[in-house]
Amino acid sequence: MSLLDRHRAVMPGWMPVYYGDDALEIVSGSGRRVTDARGRSYLDFFGGVLTNMIGYDIAEVSDAVRRQIDTGVAHTSTLYLIRQQIELAEKIARVSGIPDARVFFTNSGSEANESALLFACNVRRSNQILAIKNGYHGRTFATMAITGHRSWSSSSLTPLTVNWLSSADRLRGRMAGLSDGDLLDAAVDDLREVLATVTAGDVAALIAEPIQGVGGFVHGPDGLLGAYRKVLAEHGILLIADEVQTGWGRTGEHFWGYQAHGVTPDLITFAKGIGNGFALGGVVGRAEVMNAVPAISFSTFGGNPVSAAAGNAVLDYVLDHDLQGNAKRVGEILLGGLRSLPATILAEVRGRGLMIGLEFVRPGTTEPDPATTVRVFDLCREGGLLVGKGGLYGNVLRLGPALTLTEEEAREGLAILTDSIATADA
Ligand code: PMP
Repeated sequence: MSLLDRHRAVMPGWMPVYYGDDALEIVSGSGRRVTDARGRSYLDFFGGVLTNMIGYDIAEVSDAVRRQIDTGVAHTSTLYLIRQQIELAEKIARVSGIPDARVFFTNSGSEANESALLFACNVRRSNQILAIKNGYHGRTFATMAITGHRSWSSSSLTPLTVNWLSSADRLRGRMAGLSDGDLLDAAVDDLREVLATVTAGDVAALIAEPIQGVGGFVHGPDGLLGAYRKVLAEHGILLIADEVQTGWGRTGEHFWGYQAHGVTPDLITFAKGIGNGFALGGVVGRAEVMNAVPAISFSTFGGNPVSAAAGNAVLDYVLDHDLQGNAKRVGEILLGGLRSLPATILAEVRGRGLMIGLEFVRPGTTEPDPATTVRVFDLCREGGLLVGKGGLYGNVLRLGPALTLTEEEAREGLAILTDSIATADA
């Protein structure tokens, strides 16, 4: 029985696996490359959904983790002091941009958002949340409720009352030709309209991804969250930035996605890249919000010593090697190269730094073309490049390579993408 058949026999049927009958088993990795069970090597432009943030087999991370394992202690409950965890919290608080910040560690992005919602709802004594259509925040009950697309949100049973804002790209699509300023006005009008339908004072928080990840790397104009914030502040509504994909310099221009918006959130959630593969997530936020939970709340594994050791090494690596600067530099090569492609099937190349989305349509129309998207996706793999898929209509390819990507690797990936798109466009 093949590994895929064994997967199908034992895993629930809804679990997505890329490449269908030709599913990939990655057995090793080095730098920005992975090798599959058949010995084929691929340049990885997706990093396990932006999780492999600084590359594979990075000595600083492996050594830090090994040192922790060598102590004989892989896990101590958070009921005891964990040096690695406290050090990491101090660093994250320092880079968060939030004065007097507190940090709570979890094992995943879903748990991070679940916790942020818990803190916000407690301090505001409300279970009403504002969320943005086409957003993705996780797969627990509360995070599914605020995930704005049916095929990802799997349940309509929810502990929250959710009010939806239009995503900026939908507003842009609906009102073609809008300037960024007009778009900001339209988005703020949309927020005011939604608040007029609820008892605004009862809303706990707005949660938003500075750039929508699973939604297809969609972002509104700079300043959007800041413009929302002015209205939210009139009602005491908190702002939660979900930086699970956008944090740690990935967008090149800024360390956090929120910094493009002229606003500091009350809470920031993080996960994925900070562990570079080890399970690590969390919330960093204003002390008065973080402290609002009335009863003791903890996480057995959140910020365990092994994951925290990885997190410390990863964050040091990002800062010491100016990976934000590299993401900007190398991202511009990719963005520039992709934007100059003549393809009729490629409607838009968008993104920031090393977070780049390619949107595919039927030639000469604005009609999403998921079939062509899958074709390019498969051709990339045949050519030796792993990329991701996404978007509300499944017609976006997502590039999120490690922030250590070199210029040569960017050009190599660009050549494979160029050939794959040209073949699909023929
Ligand atoms: N928020 C965002 C923006 C995400 O992209 C994801 C994962 N794709 C999550 C939250 C949930 O993270 P996890 O899968 O680690 O629970």
